[in-house]
Amino acid sequence: MLVARELKRLKLDRAARATQARIMKELSQLGLALPGSIEVRSTRCGKANCRCKADPAQLHGPYIVWTRKVDQKTVTRVLSADQLEDYRPLLDNAKRLRELITELQRLTLEVVDGDDRWRSR
Ligand SMILES: [Zn+2]
Repeated sequence: MLVARELKRLKLDRAARATQARIMKELSQLGLALPGSIEVRSTRCGKANCRCKADPAQLHGPYIVWTRKVDQKTVTRVLSADQLEDYRPLLDNAKRLRELITELQRLTLEVVDGDDRWRSR
């Protein structure tokens, strides 16, 4: 198992082991993880004499907009209400995935910081 190999020389106390086990368990149960975020937007169009340019303006929408970065560019797609309902848990999973990665990295930094070999040089 990978855990045993990577920890041959590193000390992992009981609390650290328990934290790692909890993170791993949650990761294994997470499910699909959709990147990006969702917001509700009302917009103006490009037409000169449109109601969205009137005073008071009547904007288009509201639209449910899913945005994400692809190769440093923002990709936008408009969702239906039932798509939002179905995708919301997947977006929540992606958020939780990022949190768990951060937590696992923080734990690993603590373990590496506690390595005796830093002190013996
Ligand atoms: Zn318009």
